[in-house]
Amino acid sequence: MIVMKFGGTSVEDSDSIRRVIEIVKSETPRQPIVFVSACAGVTNQLLGIATLSADGKKDEANDLITAIRTRHEKLVDDLIRSDLPKNYLKGKISVYAHELKNLSQAISVLGELTHRSVDTIASYGERLSSMIIAQAMEEMSMRSMLVDAREFMITDDNFTKAAPILPVVEEMSKKLLVPLVLNGYVVVTQGFVGSNGKGIATTIGRGGSDYSASIVGSLLDAAEIQIWTDVDGVLTADPSIIPAARRIKRMTFNEASELAYFGARVLHPKSILPAIDKSIPVYVRNSRNPSYRGTLITKGDGNDESVAKSIAYKEHLTLLKLESSRMFLAPDFLEAVFAVFNKYHVIAHAVATSDVSVTVATEHISDLDGLKGEISEFAEISSSGGKAIVCVVGENIRHSPGIVGRIFSALKDIRINMISQGASEINIGFVVDENDIEQAVRQLHTELFANPSSPGLSGDIFD
Ligand code: ADP
Ligand code: ASP
Ligand code: MG
Repeated sequence: MIVMKFGGTSVEDSDSIRRVIEIVKSETPRQPIVFVSACAGVTNQLLGIATLSADGKKDEANDLITAIRTRHEKLVDDLIRSDLPKNYLKGKISVYAHELKNLSQAISVLGELTHRSVDTIASYGERLSSMIIAQAMEEMSMRSMLVDAREFMITDDNFTKAAPILPVVEEMSKKLLVPLVLNGYVVVTQGFVGSNGKGIATTIGRGGSDYSASIVGSLLDAAEIQIWTDVDGVLTADPSIIPAARRIKRMTFNEASELAYFGARVLHPKSILPAIDKSIPVYVRNSRNPSYRGTLITKGDGNDESVAKSIAYKEHLTLLKLESSRMFLAPDFLEAVFAVFNKYHVIAHAVATSDVSVTVATEHISDLDGLKGEISEFAEISSSGGKAIVCVVGENIRHSPGIVGRIFSALKDIRINMISQGASEINIGFVVDENDIEQAVRQLHTELFANPSSPGLSGDIFD
């Protein structure tokens, strides 16, 4: 059995969906379970409906509902010929549009938007795309079965970023998905969506379809997890900054996790973790170019002559600087600092300490003033926003002393606020001003990946 996940751009229109179905068809002997995202842009539109409704902008919310309805009706017209399923799907789309209108109305009356309502609304994107794709497979002579992810992706109640409860997901997947697969059905289901076990829809975080696929792949011991997207695999940098970024043929779980964590959108940050547990190979592939085999992510065989693999960046960070002369005296200074950080849910992406100071790059802190107030009782604290981490990732960084010099010379004209090397020693990160991201990524890419005679580029890792 294998798990295949198709992202929003892979299912954005009828041509894309036909391509996806051909890809799945070619894999039917390997018993695929297929996770799909909402059609590209639909999740954003649904979240727009939620906020517009809460702001009392009912007409604008209704326009979005109509746009979603029309888009999916067109998909049905393009993909489904037989009258019976066509009418059935159109009826379903109409019911969903009415439900969305009712939700929008209720939210605008209350004037309040809860995370729970957000998730209910967001769940319609994947529910719509998956039901059309499952039926389109039947049209293309496949035996498919749509399964509602709310039946098996059971999560906690932490709406909008719910955590799947793995033993329950395992039990339910084995009960619901495996028998269908064994009976020769191609299972089609929704990524991103789950439920809290009481029938209320939850979602597992933006971009979470990758995570859904890899959770189920790992719980069911899939032979392979395939993440199908709109680029040829994991690239040496974000192609929106480096259009000529190179394709990476293989990388390790650790490298992929670090890259995803430091912002490479191609994979959800948690998506690799379940695969690591069971050592399940993950392929990242392009649904528009299926003849290319993509990037293979595995445990690694230590047979890798590359130095660096890729460059990622994470935006919208804040730099906190704490200074206290008391640090000399108080060995529990760091403990006190991190106790406050914990209380204010500070997610530290990079930390640097000296005898008398601590510098931390963090995501947005909702109560920055509260945090500053508490810290200022024992240390001076200052903050500056608009920061980013640019990060070079590669297993062999730890064995390549020369790389640090190359990185620094590539960045010599860029103001670096802070440097950090992850405990895993497979990344080197720099905090820079957000405005400098593009320049930093470009200069690093030129230094590390543009010259084929550079160290580490000659083997069979890059295309
Ligand atoms: P999907 O809808 O298939 O989940 P995403 O938009 O979430 O697709 O992720 C794919 C996108 O990630 C690519 O189109 C690309 O612009 C972006 N991206 C950022 N960094 C990288 C990278 N290092 N390698 C590949 N793609 C990247
Ligand atoms: N549709 C969801 C999103 O846009 C989940 C995903 O595509 O992975 O965030
Ligand atoms: Mg994605």
